Amino acid sequence: MALLDILEFPDPKLRTKAKPVTDVNDGIRKLVDDMLETMYDAPGIGLAATQVDVHKRVVVIDISEEKDQPLVLINPEFTPIDGEQEYDEGCLSVPGYYETVTRVERIRLKATDRDGNPFEMDCNELLSICIQHEIDHLDGILFVDHISKLKRERIKAKLVKAHKAAAKARR
Ligand code: ZN
Repeated sequence: MALLDILEFPDPKLRTKAKPVTDVNDGIRKLVDDMLETMYDAPGIGLAATQVDVHKRVVVIDISEEKDQPLVLINPEFTPIDGEQEYDEGCLSVPGYYETVTRVERIRLKATDRDGNPFEMDCNELLSICIQHEIDHLDGILFVDHISKLKRERIKAKLVKAHKAAAKARR
């Protein structure tokens, strides 16, 4: 397994729309394993392939306290069931920033697992938020797109400055 580099906002590569996985083969399983290792190392509760510059519809999630319940979603899709919920979201691609985002409360998830088997499940609370956040990534959307332009531009300016300082420190 290997740790992957995580792209950070406002990297334009984060805006790429990911392509569906047509065959769940060993290459995809290797990607899944590397993504899980990268997510646990960060640490985070979810990671989309888009964030590691692989533009395939693959997501890994683990919202458990013990970090021992990995959920692998290949070609995930959801349909809203009902409700609305607000949560202070963060993102490994927008490090250090948290903002309140409103999302659907209950969703029906459809996806394929690590073995290539399709499954469906109803999700609510944090899992539902996380799935919506990660599927957004596959469509090139970030949680900062759900907040005001003013707040988004402020976060962007601060991250651009931080990236420049980090690049300078490396020279
Ligand atoms: Zn994210």
